[in-house]
Amino acid sequence: MNLANYKPCVCNLCGTGCGQFLKTDGQKVYGVAPLIAHPVSKGKLCIRGWHSNELLSTNERITEPMIRENGQLRPASYAEAIALVTERMQQFDGTAGEIGVLASARSSNEDGYALNRLCREVFKTDLRGIGAEAGHRKSMASLEHAFGYPGAHGSLTSIDKADYILVVGTDITRQNPVIGGNIHAAQRRGARVVTLCSSRTQIAKLSTKHYQQKPGTKGLLVNALAKALLAIRTINHDRKANIDQLPGYAEYVASLRSISSVALERASGIRYEDIEEEAKHLEHAKSIVILFSSGISGLDRPTIDAITNLALLTDRMDHEHSAVIPVAGISNLQGSFDMGMSGELGNSVFKALATPDSPIKVLFVIDHDDGIIRDKERIANLDFVAYACAYKSAFMDLADVIFPLPAYNETDGTYTASDRRVQITHQNVNNPHGVLPGWALFQQIAAASGIEFGYSDTANVFNDLAAHTKGYAELSHAGLSKGFGQHWNPKAFPNSRKRKFNAINVEYWESPTTAEFPFALMIGKAQHYWHQNNLMRKTIVPRREYDQTLWLYPQGYIEISPEDASQLKVKDKWIVNVRSSIGTQMKIAVKISPDVQNGTAYIPYFIKNMISDFLLPYENAYAAGEESVIPIQIQE
Ligand code: SF4
Repeated sequence: MNLANYKPCVCNLCGTGCGQFLKTDGQKVYGVAPLIAHPVSKGKLCIRGWHSNELLSTNERITEPMIRENGQLRPASYAEAIALVTERMQQFDGTAGEIGVLASARSSNEDGYALNRLCREVFKTDLRGIGAEAGHRKSMASLEHAFGYPGAHGSLTSIDKADYILVVGTDITRQNPVIGGNIHAAQRRGARVVTLCSSRTQIAKLSTKHYQQKPGTKGLLVNALAKALLAIRTINHDRKANIDQLPGYAEYVASLRSISSVALERASGIRYEDIEEEAKHLEHAKSIVILFSSGISGLDRPTIDAITNLALLTDRMDHEHSAVIPVAGISNLQGSFDMGMSGELGNSVFKALATPDSPIKVLFVIDHDDGIIRDKERIANLDFVAYACAYKSAFMDLADVIFPLPAYNETDGTYTASDRRVQITHQNVNNPHGVLPGWALFQQIAAASGIEFGYSDTANVFNDLAAHTKGYAELSHAGLSKGFGQHWNPKAFPNSRKRKFNAINVEYWESPTTAEFPFALMIGKAQHYWHQNNLMRKTIVPRREYDQTLWLYPQGYIEISPEDASQLKVKDKWIVNVRSSIGTQMKIAVKISPDVQNGTAYIPYFIKNMISDFLLPYENAYAAGEESVIPIQIQE
């Protein structure tokens, strides 16, 4: 193939933002190749990235606008579909909470920004959100308090040079495999890699040290590490910065001092002496990278606060190779947050849908995973639902109007990775169906209501968003096209040099398990097919890998330890009934794994009824993300 047919682009399947080439002559797509010069992925792609081109050849595309008539969808022109949306939207009052908008964390920044304008200027609604925002909002709030801006501190490239890497919880080789590979490479070159995780994940096995604590105690352990660090610091203080002058320091230190080594060990299963040894390594490290998962399966706020406080306490955060990064599973979660699509009210769309007497009557949805459709009955009974997506999904059954969107590489767009790196993908393939990019669709809907956005192309949208989005002012399509993206600038935030400790409460986790419900169930990731991802189902190879899991465990699986399996007298692949303490239940196969602790169990999110039937009724557990622990019983 002619080298001119290798078009550089960004993988759009997780928040790592790996660089890749799309092999295409502009009409036909031949595959994908890794981009060796990319500073983060450095010639690596995971299985999802290697097969991302399959998303361009699937038949499961939405190719034209559609309108539901007499219960059936029929093709429509853009003019007809936009006129219907305009007419129906004008019948409802956005300011009264009647219009909800569910954006996508996979949309480009340009689409997210134009959609935000549509919400504010045309629909006049604050009721907007992104599916995965609840977890990310906590990360952003904690980071903004600690570092003065809502985004990662430092770059993912720091992993390659840091002395010490702390991975708190995240099953990163599944969620962001290329970052996982980089951490493993760092460990091989001599960096100390430490994982805090109650399961023996792959990254835990590859780490220098794994602390396999009891579920729900990651924050406590991070605080204990801070206490041990502080004890060394008072004896041998060689730091120059005035950490002890930062707001919140005195209260933080007082809280840390209240940690009891006996209570710590009882709650977490980890000895304080081991944490004291760990603190010595941390104290000697010149550069420190801390990574944790953000988004739907992220950590709870107290744990994130413990992480950002520890980072400040190390006093190494001004080193060029130090970083604190909330790693996102979805490609443009950070960018969608930056574009304001999380709205002022956080997860309010879902709350409105779940609250029977809320005023919501209309829903406008962009590219949403059908597996996490919540409140399906309520959505089906709304007065009007519009849906826009490149791919078919179960949401189509609920929509009155449907718009197609271009797939990745069929239009220009920028995406902001987990470490604030903003990257551009140009239109590298012919848009075979001539569908409007999202920003152009939203602009036409606005125009039909008499409001002109005035955009001529995607670069033009970007210039507008750069002028109105903090941190983006120095960026442009032309600049981003020259290299491998640029991090948005934290200095645009007035508090970016005013660091502060978050307030913490030291709490000792009490297991919610009982004699009747003796297992602590945790929820997490599965490779190839996480979050019931609508996109992965459209691929061939990643889907085949997933199907192999389902051939072995057609009803999904619950992982338990060999000892617990023996006590329960169950064998691998036997179907068991899992019942929670509030009565939700599911039938599922046993997968015996030495990676989970006795008394704990693990189910990946992708299992079909996991979220809708089992997890959602546990509102607190759902909000706790990776820290969710549900007491269950397992019966044959
Ligand atoms: S790690 Fe993420 S961005 Fe990189 S190739 Fe895999 S899915 Fe794509």
